[in-house]
Amino acid sequence: MRVLVLTVTTLAVIGSSMTAVRGQSPGSSTPPPQIVLRAAQMLDVRTGEVTRNAVVLIDGQRVSAVGSELAIPPGAQVIDLGSATLLPGLIECHTHLMARLRSNEPYYGQLVTRSQAARALEGAASAREMLEAGYTSVRDAGNEGSGYADVALRDAINNGLVAGPRLLVSTRAIAAVGQYMPFGISPDLEDRLTGAQMISGAEEGRRAVREQVGYGADFIKIYADWQYPTLTVEEMRVIVEEAHKFHRKVAAHANTPEGIRNAVTAGVDAIEHGNRPDRETLQTMKQQGTFLVLTVGMFINALEAAQSEDQRAAVEKGMEFFRQTIALAREAGVKIAGGLDAGTAGLHGQSVHQLLALVKMGMTPLEALRTQTVDAADLLGWADRVGTLEPGKFADVIAVDGNPMVDIAALERVLFVMKGGAVVKQLPAVGDSTPINNTHKKQVR
Ligand SMILES: [Zn+2]
Repeated sequence: MRVLVLTVTTLAVIGSSMTAVRGQSPGSSTPPPQIVLRAAQMLDVRTGEVTRNAVVLIDGQRVSAVGSELAIPPGAQVIDLGSATLLPGLIECHTHLMARLRSNEPYYGQLVTRSQAARALEGAASAREMLEAGYTSVRDAGNEGSGYADVALRDAINNGLVAGPRLLVSTRAIAAVGQYMPFGISPDLEDRLTGAQMISGAEEGRRAVREQVGYGADFIKIYADWQYPTLTVEEMRVIVEEAHKFHRKVAAHANTPEGIRNAVTAGVDAIEHGNRPDRETLQTMKQQGTFLVLTVGMFINALEAAQSEDQRAAVEKGMEFFRQTIALAREAGVKIAGGLDAGTAGLHGQSVHQLLALVKMGMTPLEALRTQTVDAADLLGWADRVGTLEPGKFADVIAVDGNPMVDIAALERVLFVMKGGAVVKQLPAVGDSTPINNTHKKQVR
């Protein structure tokens, strides 16, 4: 009998190859059946072209062919989606699955009343809601004090234990000492829980990156500012250097012109929110390939909640501000992605508000869609596996009632969701008298 000796080097190689197939469930000896999706139309989010009488052929977890009126292989399972439009699964680029703050609950309440186990389970509920809304990949931008529960959730989803999108997680996030939530807590409380890992100095930043990557972070989230610029350029430069060494990208929360400039100077890969970047910084972002990750979808919630013309006008004014930022970023040629930035219970299934807001702020429906499909895949470093419906990519597919190129709100009517060749949601075909929204809510809750 041969004794298998696993050296440390062998284990490292196995580990890296496992990382490469992360997101796939364990293989089986019998080949899975072929599945054929049929629908009246399919949108190519890269070109804007619409294919009529669309057919998507799926072999196991991946797409094997797409086109119009393709021949159906014998023995294949056919799913006919009628008059719906097929699209690639959507990608949420900025959310907080583990944060389900209730209204009237202070941030600190979430930290001190819920165990890490409870937070992980709450994250699982958010993940399911997001998947059922059509989001098959999610970049989680900081887990708000839930330790490494997001790593556990990511792995549980990949192992088929719970339903959820493919996750890219950033774990604890990094902020300057005293410059992130919770604020207003007594200094007498030693070792109090915090919403991010607090550092002071470049070497503490380096150590935080090493810890977070060591415990499973897929990328690093930092806070370049809060009300004012916080981490220094030097601190962020070392964080970026250390993260890039491990092939991890760095995302910087930045909402002040100086904070954005500092983070871009330090070489981060993405600016989150990006309120008020100056023209020169946008030019540098274009040159460096830095993404702008917009989070403007909550304006739609605010518009829906407005109870008077005055309130509505105030929201419109805020939207006007971002309309200008978006126009400047597009003019400069900066890559744009986005997410809703959900952090409270009930919002995680509403990520499509981000796309509705982008269209209200001047983007075409196709441009908006790209920020949560093909361009989002580029941001995640997953352009080879998700973001478009093409042979070789994961069969992450949604079908919506209507044509989002004409009416972006069609994306609120997700009838069908498939992730990696497995159907996770299928509502009655279009034309059925069942009210779609009500059915959807029944399924989600
Ligand atoms: Zn956020």
